[in-house]
Amino acid sequence: MSLRERYNLDSLGNRSQELVDEAIERLVDERAICTCEECVMDLVAWTLNHVTPRYYASLLSPLIPDMTLEQKVRVEIDLAISSGRKRLREHPHHA
Ligand SMILES: [Zn+2]
Repeated sequence: MSLRERYNLDSLGNRSQELVDEAIERLVDERAICTCEECVMDLVAWTLNHVTPRYYASLLSPLIPDMTLEQKVRVEIDLAISSGRKRLREHPHHA
C-alpha cells in the first residue's frame, strides 16, 4: 500500500505554489504573457523550479503568516518569472 493510499495527504500545501499561481494568474488576466496553455504551463513549471518550496501540513494556512518569509518568497517569484519570460521570448514554442 502506497503512502498516499494509507494517509490522506490532501491537506499538504505549498505556500510558494499558491503565490506562483496568483502571480501568473495576474499576468494572464492582464494579457502580459502569451495565454496559450503551453506557454503558461512552461512558465509555471519554470517558476516553481526556481522558487524554494514552503510546504505546510495543515488544513488551514498558518493563521499569522510570516510576512518576512512571504516577502522573501515573493522576491524569488518575481525573479523566477522574469527569467522565465525572458527564456520564453528567446525560445518561443510558436511564432
Ligand atoms: Zn503561447
